[in-house]
Amino acid sequence: ALTILWFRQDLRLADNHALTAAAGEGPVLALYILDDETPGDDRIGGAQRWWLHHSLTAMGKAIAAKGGKLVLRKGKSAQVIRAVADEVGASRIHATRLYEPWWQDADADLADHVDLQLHDGNHLAPPRDILTGSGGRYRIFTPFWRALLDTLPPRDPLPVPRAIDWGDAKSDKLDDWQLLPTRPDWSLGFDLWSPGEDGAKARLKRFLGHVGNYDERRNFPSERGSSELSPHLHFGEISPATIWHALDGQSGRMPFLRELGWRDFAANSMDVFPKIAREQGRSLGLRWRGGKAADDDFHAWTRGRTGYPIVDAGMRQLWTTGWMHNRVRMIAASFLIKHLLIDWRRGERWFWDTLVDADYGNNSVNWQWVAGTGVDASLFTRIMAPLGQSGKFDAGDYIRQWVPELAALHDDVIHDPHGLDAAPADYPEPLIGHREARERALAAYRASR
Ligand code: FAD
Repeated sequence: ALTILWFRQDLRLADNHALTAAAGEGPVLALYILDDETPGDDRIGGAQRWWLHHSLTAMGKAIAAKGGKLVLRKGKSAQVIRAVADEVGASRIHATRLYEPWWQDADADLADHVDLQLHDGNHLAPPRDILTGSGGRYRIFTPFWRALLDTLPPRDPLPVPRAIDWGDAKSDKLDDWQLLPTRPDWSLGFDLWSPGEDGAKARLKRFLGHVGNYDERRNFPSERGSSELSPHLHFGEISPATIWHALDGQSGRMPFLRELGWRDFAANSMDVFPKIAREQGRSLGLRWRGGKAADDDFHAWTRGRTGYPIVDAGMRQLWTTGWMHNRVRMIAASFLIKHLLIDWRRGERWFWDTLVDADYGNNSVNWQWVAGTGVDASLFTRIMAPLGQSGKFDAGDYIRQWVPELAALHDDVIHDPHGLDAAPADYPEPLIGHREARERALAAYRASR
């Protein structure tokens, strides 16, 4: 009988356990559903719609090259699947297990009506298998990572099934979904990306050449020291097991694999705390700034006009390319939360809409970590010094690239052009001085005690 393969954040043919299982049972109907309703406020953001359009295009071609068709439908996924199953006479659905709360809701809803088979494979290990000595779930990264390492290496990646007998059904036209925004035209700065499985493989290949330098170079935003695999991983265009095995034997790979461990930990965290993007793991009781002045500051932050070069470079890189260097994400997030005293959830939402790698688990865990509200987080009172960080991590070239007003400045003044009287007239004044901001944040923290 025909089975349905429900693609979600697993847009790959290689190492896809759901696909391999479905193909082993007979004809397969490949289905992707654009579901803006089940996730509600967490529906896919603007930058990821761009990515999704291109990733589905790539997936459609890859399936066509194997003689099949990717069927596209729109609506509440649990309802759409039941309708399609009736239409084509399928009773079994295969899908990859995901941990976002809305997918868990959809899965629970579906499981009452159809034979839903969920397969692992989007993580190094299924987070629910990583348990404490007493059988509970971890809430802190380091012991989680230690326990995860004990289960590794992950299974060998599966090859693309050789012959697949494809089913068929009526499909929406991808262009009718209008995933590509016309204003702003994201595609301009986004052309550094190649969404899809081949693009993911190419990124991995590029990274294989410098894994050994990762630990030393990853914190320097002027260099491309990290893998840039995050959007591919989010959309499941490549599996963590594939990456793990590709790195086999490479020296210096552990610090990188540990970051993949953070990704697993974030999935574990959203499974344990489904409201992690909204509710603080540890309440600070802090009074965030609100009103017009805070709104203006927030807007300046989103557009990269804070008067802090490293923050502005990061926020403009994000707006232009849909991605930001990890060190700069920490600095920009800390600046919003501590220098501007704005609720981290506003920043989380901005990232959600503008990142091509926006991920419910990774984004929330990291915002809560910087805010000091996560269960596993640094302290609120550890306030990053953006100007010092910029110099320490040699961000001159990065700033010159993303903040054209500062392109003519030399390294000795570029990190702090206002403090060193070198700021050109067209570069914004700082929204607040570092010392003043620090005192305001600490006072707000004391008032909350
Ligand atoms: P690499 O350094 O090459 O790491 C490899 C992979 O490990 C990444 O692709 C990613 O999947 C994972 N990873 C790396 N760092 C982290 C981390 N700190 N937490 C969880 N997973 C990690 N990452 C996202 O994927 N989506 C987000 O929405 C996101 N939001 C963030 C928000 C803030 C405020 C901060 C500080 C970090 C956020 N990160 C997020 C984590 C990290 O910045 C990105 O994963 C990383 O910069 C992606 O670049 P890369 O693929 O070159 O990373």
